[in-house]
Amino acid sequence: MNLSRGSHYLAIPGPSVMPEAVLRAMHRPAPNIYTGELHDIVDTIIPDLKQVAKTDQNVALYICNGHGAWEAALSNVFRRGDKALGLVTGRFGEGWSATAERLGVEVARLDFGRRAAVDLDAVAAALDADRDHEIRAVMTVQVDTATSVKNDIAGLRAVLDRLGHPALLMVDCIASLAVDEFHMDAWGVDVMVTASQKGLMTPPGLGFVYFSQKADAARERSDLATAYWDWRPRVRAEAFYQYFNGTAPTHHLYGLRAALDLIREEGMEQIWARHAALARAIWAAVDAWGAAGPLELNVPEPGIRSHAVTTVRAGGGAGTRLRDWVSVNAGLTLGIGLGMASPEDPASDGVFRIGHMGYVNAQMVMGALGAIDTGLKALGIPHGSGALEEAATVLARA
Ligand SMILES: *Cc1c(COP(=O)(O)O)cnc(C)c1O
Repeated sequence: MNLSRGSHYLAIPGPSVMPEAVLRAMHRPAPNIYTGELHDIVDTIIPDLKQVAKTDQNVALYICNGHGAWEAALSNVFRRGDKALGLVTGRFGEGWSATAERLGVEVARLDFGRRAAVDLDAVAAALDADRDHEIRAVMTVQVDTATSVKNDIAGLRAVLDRLGHPALLMVDCIASLAVDEFHMDAWGVDVMVTASQKGLMTPPGLGFVYFSQKADAARERSDLATAYWDWRPRVRAEAFYQYFNGTAPTHHLYGLRAALDLIREEGMEQIWARHAALARAIWAAVDAWGAAGPLELNVPEPGIRSHAVTTVRAGGGAGTRLRDWVSVNAGLTLGIGLGMASPEDPASDGVFRIGHMGYVNAQMVMGALGAIDTGLKALGIPHGSGALEEAATVLARA
């Protein structure tokens, strides 16, 4: 029986659920871009974005998605032919490295597979072997959205410091900013990229590149920054149009202002704690299902699991069947398996992802878990019992 009428939960790992306040803020006529409220909004957005990333340094705003933010960051720090170390824990780490190669950067990759985090000893060995300090930057993701692996960013900084290696530390926080704990300045991150449509709860279309003074010094010798991607005018805009190198993304800015108000109200510590509790409830449910059946968390070790997204191995074609069932019958859209197997490989139908980033609360997560539990029963996919009790117990104790 179809039980899908009612509010739908788009539980894919981005775009995330848009809060009503964000939607309402965007529903307005086009504003004057030359003076007035829009200028005031940008003046307040910049310090708030820095507060979310725990930094006093620079943030440049772009009209682009996450891939654009990748390219923006890369083009400001590299010269063609520079060397970089790319740390790969899934599809997104690989994608950022590939983007750098397309710009002419020589990227040596360390690939840690699809279920493990960056191994700090392996990174230390690679940096230690680089006696002439030719590696200009270490590129990593905090959370790889395909595998749901989370990496230890403070640990990477400690490795660089211990070896006295001058490479920049560049981090993709597109999935994890305003979800998982992150301290740009305290963790010594030189470049951080993020985008509007995940933890920041705003439609896709804004990219953000944060950078340290040290990264700005690298900008000096870079030969890849073009007029549009150059971060300098964007952080030292003398005229308003320079913030976006052209017309501002008017409605996105109203939406982002409303989202940042929600973030301010809740506070970063509480936001991190909420996502951590919701993630633990999901893990408890998947563990219970897996006790008697094929379902299994992709990341075995709890300490390296993302709080933004959970990748579940369901075996055979069960991932796709379950996704289809909950979408049609229960009003829940789950994420596809991404980069876990090639699309022709039947194993790619055996993976699904639950997005739980941004504007997500206990009843949404319990509802999603309940819908998945129902789908498992409807489809006759073997699973252990008590998943919802386990999840509720975790949330009751949070
Ligand atoms: C979503 C995501 C991207 C890509 O962002 P787009 O907006 O789709 O270009 C890159 N890296 C990570 C970690 C992501 O989660």
